[in-house]
Amino acid sequence: MPPWQTPAIILSVKAYGEADLLVTFLTPAQGRVTGMAKHALKSRRRFANCLEPLNRVTLFLSPRRGELEFLQKGELLDSFPTLRRDLKRLGAAAVLAELAGLVATPPEALGEIFQTMEEVLRLLDRRAADPDSLLPEFLLRFLTLGGYGPRLAACLGCGREPEGPVYFSIPRGGIFCTSCRDQAAGPVLALTPGTWKSLRLAQSLALDKLSRLRLPDFQRQESLALLRAFLRHHLGRDLKAWAFYEKVISS
Ligand SMILES: [Zn+2]
Repeated sequence: MPPWQTPAIILSVKAYGEADLLVTFLTPAQGRVTGMAKHALKSRRRFANCLEPLNRVTLFLSPRRGELEFLQKGELLDSFPTLRRDLKRLGAAAVLAELAGLVATPPEALGEIFQTMEEVLRLLDRRAADPDSLLPEFLLRFLTLGGYGPRLAACLGCGREPEGPVYFSIPRGGIFCTSCRDQAAGPVLALTPGTWKSLRLAQSLALDKLSRLRLPDFQRQESLALLRAFLRHHLGRDLKAWAFYEKVISS
């Protein structure tokens, strides 16, 4: 590949050896990419204030040698300073950025995943919403864009739209109605009809409308419990950022 440049959101930065940094970032065309920033710790000018997690930047990369990308320089576009000063906002952004990086694989969804992450960071930085009120709908959006969306439209047993309580089978990744509940492989989480309807809505809304959707407190807690269990089942672990988020949100 010739030299190239890309908009990017920095996901993580690790020291490598004496002076180099290994940087993982989200891009709209290639998804999650890892690159080496040689001598970045010694010559800070090429990456002035750029290589901090969650920054929105433009990165300039060299022609590729082997598997690894090499970062030549970066330009900071937005560091989301308000978000950064508030641990709860930072926690929510870290959880969503980690998931966005993990699911950024289907080529047709990469642009939208990037755009959705930019929107989340803007919303959290503008203080447009409580940090925890954004989390369920955007976790669901990233899962859906990445091809892991839970099946919420109809009962996986009978195909009908359930009335009354809904039962979500974590391993099947979808819902069952009261009559078909016995067919649902466990663990199964019960959802109130209101939460189910809100999640269905969140799955189908366009991004600008999703940004304005706010779940009532009870629905938010129910949704987060479900999405966290669903993620844990499919990843085999919690998102790493979840422990940080839990600590700051309860403080
Ligand atoms: Zn059914």
